[in-house]
Amino acid sequence: MVMGKITKIRKYITINANNCIGCRACELACSAFHARPRYSSANPKRARIRIVRDPLKDIYLPVYAGEYTAAECAGMNKYVIDGKEYSTCDFCRASCPSRDSFKEPDSGLPLKCDMCEDNPPLARPKCVEWCPNEALIYEEREEEVEEGAPQLGEVEIGVEAMIDKYGLQKFLETVAKMAKL
Ligand code: SF4
Ligand code: SF4
Repeated sequence: MVMGKITKIRKYITINANNCIGCRACELACSAFHARPRYSSANPKRARIRIVRDPLKDIYLPVYAGEYTAAECAGMNKYVIDGKEYSTCDFCRASCPSRDSFKEPDSGLPLKCDMCEDNPPLARPKCVEWCPNEALIYEEREEEVEEGAPQLGEVEIGVEAMIDKYGLQKFLETVAKMAKL
């Protein structure tokens, strides 16, 4: 069978850290949107975005939750950018065993940005909508991809990672608990 190319819409959020003022509205908006029932609570620990903040050093860095990782890094680096010092962990998007970031506080399950997928789709993700200073810029781009190439969706990848780490039984128990909320 001959495979062709198909056009797909890809969603991007560009971070302009220079515009971030550390207000954390993005964290609140994300956690409220993902609360069950929706908007029933707002807890930044449940957000899929976190702000690395150090007001004394004028550091405000938005970081999105990415993939879960089973092992922590073997070594850490320091980065100096515009005279400000960051660590490897500051930029890291992973839910990792060595820190609390991007973990659902009750279950400990990893959190991952899903671009606020909804039906009908939102005009733009909640964190972008509530950012008061254009630090987060949303964009949709048409891109050509191979037709028929295996492509797991973001949510599917997240589920795979959770089952990999916690086992199918604990994953199913957690889903059942969430369904009752
Ligand atoms: S895009 Fe949606 S899920 Fe991702 S961090 Fe922003 S509000 Fe949260
Ligand atoms: S809402 Fe915008 S300005 Fe406020 S902390 Fe988040 S990214 Fe920074």
